Amino acid sequence: MNRLAVVGHPVAHSLSPAMHTAAFAALGLADEWSYEGIDLAPAEFAAGIADLRDRGYAGVNVTVPHKRAAYELADERSDAVAAIGAANTLTFAGAVIRADNTDAGGLIAALPADFDPAGAEALVLGAGGSARAVAWALDHAGAAVTIANRTEERAVRLARELGTYALEGVGADEAIDLAPFDLLVNATSVGLAMEGAAPPAPGADLKALRLRADQLVAPLLVVDLVYGSTPTELAATCTSGGATLIDGLEILVRQGADSFRIWVGQEPPIEAMRNAIRDSR
Ligand code: NAP
Repeated sequence: MNRLAVVGHPVAHSLSPAMHTAAFAALGLADEWSYEGIDLAPAEFAAGIADLRDRGYAGVNVTVPHKRAAYELADERSDAVAAIGAANTLTFAGAVIRADNTDAGGLIAALPADFDPAGAEALVLGAGGSARAVAWALDHAGAAVTIANRTEERAVRLARELGTYALEGVGADEAIDLAPFDLLVNATSVGLAMEGAAPPAPGADLKALRLRADQLVAPLLVVDLVYGSTPTELAATCTSGGATLIDGLEILVRQGADSFRIWVGQEPPIEAMRNAIRDSR
């Protein structure tokens, strides 16, 4: 049996085991491959990964809060990992740990076939780990990337590091002018439902993102990395307003599909993976 896992803290909520298990079943590989969730606290991460490698696991996905630590412990890093400074996919080849970042490639793979990122004007909201992967991926694919963040100096710093633009001077109560942009990516945690917390007031998430509903119209393409058991306010507003939407579940499927390709060496059954996570959320 080739064993795989997603390692996070917490990890119980992860949809990746259902998604990859469905992929193996769809390809008739369920007797050869398995995929489980493994919870490792930050202090246990490095030793836990070495233990999985030594026990013969084929590889792991790495999620919050371990993506930076995964970058640090790898023996070999893809160009994306080296540039982004974070990894979400580890592959064990004997004693060697190879790191990939399929969050970056998965984002590009999720874009509609008729949308060419080369030459597109892209606005990335956020300046955390995901924004960094998204901005690098789009820049690498030839887009002109602008980064906007609630804490402006983080956007400026990230843009300087990646060689992209930063949006400056838009106040917390103003809306960002979306007219110059073909693509908007929400890589903030706005829209993430907190367990047990009351849902935000209508309009609150768009306001936090400095967006107005009447801007979310065709031909704008919107990618929302955030997902939950119900559509985010951003996603729902795109659906009703006419902007093309790629939601966080599709991004999850595409990064999973890229990881699957690396480990299994076969074309992943994307539709089976998509159905599995939409059914299990
Ligand atoms: P992170 O490093 O913690 O960064 C969070 C970002 O959100 C920061 O830029 C922060 O701005 C901004 N932010 C937080 N609260 C805000 C608010 N109320 N108003 C405006 N901006 C706010 O998080 P991350 O790891 O990049 O992840 C971001 C999101 O992407 C998460 O929801 C995660 O679940 C999602 N994600 C999804 C996938 C997928 O497969 N679909 C993959 C990766 C990540 P400040 O700098 O001002 O604090």
